[in-house]
Amino acid sequence: MTAPSSAGGTCFCGEIRFSTELPSKWCAHCHCSMCRKIHGAGYVTWVGVEDDGFRLDRDRGLKWYRSSADSERGFCTECGTTLFFRSQRWPGEVHIALAAFDQPIDRRPQANAYYDTHVDWMPVDETLNRV
Ligand SMILES: [Zn+2]
Ligand SMILES: [Zn+2]
Repeated sequence: MTAPSSAGGTCFCGEIRFSTELPSKWCAHCHCSMCRKIHGAGYVTWVGVEDDGFRLDRDRGLKWYRSSADSERGFCTECGTTLFFRSQRWPGEVHIALAAFDQPIDRRPQANAYYDTHVDWMPVDETLNRV
């Protein structure tokens, strides 16, 4: 099986459609308290891609807001799905919530980020690297 060369997805209502070229740069679970709160989930699995290969095929509902001093997050104003993250800490990258993809990407989650702040009510893959 050959790895896919691109993949795409949408928000829940479809007002936002995106696609990205692959390979991705990384895929990791984020256990930080902001991701948990914003996504309403135990942790969020992110995929990092090159900004150059990332395309918004439809962005009617998209709004970006500042979630910390150097970072912003993109969500759908129609249905509330949070899909994107970008930060001055990772220039040239867009982080996309893996759950928003409708097609498989090129890799499995590889790491637990902010593991120190993970919750105890959600199972965590302890075999992954902590970053
Ligand atoms: Zn939507
Ligand atoms: Zn996070």
